Amino acid sequence: MSETNAPAVSDARAAAAEPDSLLWIKKLVSFDTVSRNPNMGLIETVRDELRGAGIEATLTTDPSGKWANLFATVPAHDGSTQGGIALSGHTDVVPVEGQSWHSDPFQPSVRDGRLYGRGTCDMKGFIGAALSMLPKMQATRLARPIHFALSFDEEIGCAGAPLMIADLIRRGVTLDGCIVGEPTGMRPVVAHKGINVYDCHLRGFATHSSLTPQGMNAIEYAARLICFIRDLADELRTQGPFDELYDVPFSTAQTSTIQGGNAINTVPADCSFVFEFRNLPMLDPQVVLARIEQYAFDSLLPKMQREYASAAIEFSKIATAPGLDATEQAAITQLVRELTQDQEKRKVAYGTEAGLFARAGVPSIVCGPGNIEQAHKANEYVALDQLHACEAFLSKLIQSQSVEAQRA
Ligand SMILES: [Zn+2]
Repeated sequence: MSETNAPAVSDARAAAAEPDSLLWIKKLVSFDTVSRNPNMGLIETVRDELRGAGIEATLTTDPSGKWANLFATVPAHDGSTQGGIALSGHTDVVPVEGQSWHSDPFQPSVRDGRLYGRGTCDMKGFIGAALSMLPKMQATRLARPIHFALSFDEEIGCAGAPLMIADLIRRGVTLDGCIVGEPTGMRPVVAHKGINVYDCHLRGFATHSSLTPQGMNAIEYAARLICFIRDLADELRTQGPFDELYDVPFSTAQTSTIQGGNAINTVPADCSFVFEFRNLPMLDPQVVLARIEQYAFDSLLPKMQREYASAAIEFSKIATAPGLDATEQAAITQLVRELTQDQEKRKVAYGTEAGLFARAGVPSIVCGPGNIEQAHKANEYVALDQLHACEAFLSKLIQSQSVEAQRA
């Protein structure tokens, strides 16, 4: 890691050796691609740049056409585009509101051996480093193609990548492996939890609060369901399943937001809350959801309907993303371990798009520059040393895909 307590020295070092990828990363960071904003400007810039190098990208868009994924292939020396490794990253970033930044988050700047800006760490640093390698990829006699896979809306529940993956399947594009460059300090991460976020709406009946027996109080039943979810979380914590390689070694669950009621003297007809659970890959998330639904529909709903025949409970999915559990036997795992000279089995609580690629049958692993602790915060940064390390990694990766290396 690059941390140094002597800024003057690190300044000099940074000035002496700016990473080649800095230009690309700065360009990417200058687009305000907070998830709620369209990312099309960034995607078109990348598409045009690739087109200038003779590579035609495929975009997959959301229904509005304002958000897009980009998939592009640098073909093998014989022109083949099947197989090979994908370098994957999300183009969206988290909001900056309410954070106190020392510089404009969308005007990236280098200070003290670090590049500051929203998304420098999570994860435009990796995307920029990968794109900056395009000339080297094209100058190498590749035995297998190398792909770029850029997504939108990862930060709001991996909403974009499934469209791109479905399109790859539809077009019959095969991949041998995928590296998702989320910030891991350039160390391989082989497993992460799944994410499951749901909205639950309870519908009751409003009356004046002096006449409560004639109403049906939606908040009170929501409270019971929320307590059930908490009890379930406690059960997962005490009874497992467990995997001690995770920082939080069991599956977790919680209620995160709630709305209900409209006046202090009215029985609330409606209550909505959002809950999430993060499952270890070994635990089927459908089993957890089924437990919650069973309690809602078998225990609570009959009671609600005795008070009000049209009472209802509705669950709707906000976001889900599968966990990742890479095998050590997978060629991509072995390759990344070899390139990073790192054999440690790291498993993390946060989700990534690697689980989505893995579920589609593409062996995947997470490895990228920066530290997750520097992400999502004010003054997000990536250390220039990390970018150098990422460039060196990608350079070796490209070499490993060459005809010469494959023959050896
Ligand atoms: Zn990320």
